[in-house]
Amino acid sequence: MTDKAFANLALNPWIIRQCASIGVKTPTPIQANCIPPILKGRDCIGAAKTGSGKTLAFALPIIQKLCEDPYGIFALILTPTRELAYQIADQFAVIGKVMNLRHCVIVGGMDMVTQGQELAKRPHVVVATPGRLSDHLESCNTFNFHKLRFLVVDEADRLLGGHFDEQIKTIFQALPKQRQNLFFSATITDTLEKLKSVTGKDVFFYEAPAEV
Ligand code: ADP
Ligand code: MG
Repeated sequence: MTDKAFANLALNPWIIRQCASIGVKTPTPIQANCIPPILKGRDCIGAAKTGSGKTLAFALPIIQKLCEDPYGIFALILTPTRELAYQIADQFAVIGKVMNLRHCVIVGGMDMVTQGQELAKRPHVVVATPGRLSDHLESCNTFNFHKLRFLVVDEADRLLGGHFDEQIKTIFQALPKQRQNLFFSATITDTLEKLKSVTGKDVFFYEAPAEV
């Protein structure tokens, strides 16, 4: 555990209040370590085991930055499964409720037309699985990522360097080069090590210590 408090992480008081309202009162180590550099604008690679609070480690700083400059699709979160996409979207919705955060979930199993319409409404945050999002990019022009500020690759060890590669490539090509890249993962694999050279020069790297 860490003795750091959310109040020491440069987060806005209203975000800390929203966290408290859902029982999130003390940051987990990955949150305490990654939130300040993300707020400072650095790329981030963070690894910690499942259940360690990685979602809020990226969602809180993204929501704070979104309040400063809410224009266009602000953040894209890629994750490998539908279930994870909905879980991530729920956390954005709960914390972002007081600022009327608009999000949409783009996953397989729902009709493309409705999803295209949702994307056209310029949500602040898009949470997507790579397959369905790349389908949209190849078939529909109702939206673009020109204003994107944050790319999050959740479960990066599963999404990168495997069978998602083609879809990920299609998606990355649609993103502006100027953006903040956040990679989160349960484990540090070779792929993730390589990312250190792919991301910005000033990438912050955090790996939670193994439990003893
Ligand atoms: P991970 O992505 O690392 O597997 P999640 O971000 O999904 O983990 O978080 C797991 C659970 O822990 C969620 O229900 C979340 O609301 C909760 N949680 C996250 N951060 C905290 C915290 N600082 N204090 C208490 N609970 C938290
Ligand atoms: Mg997670």
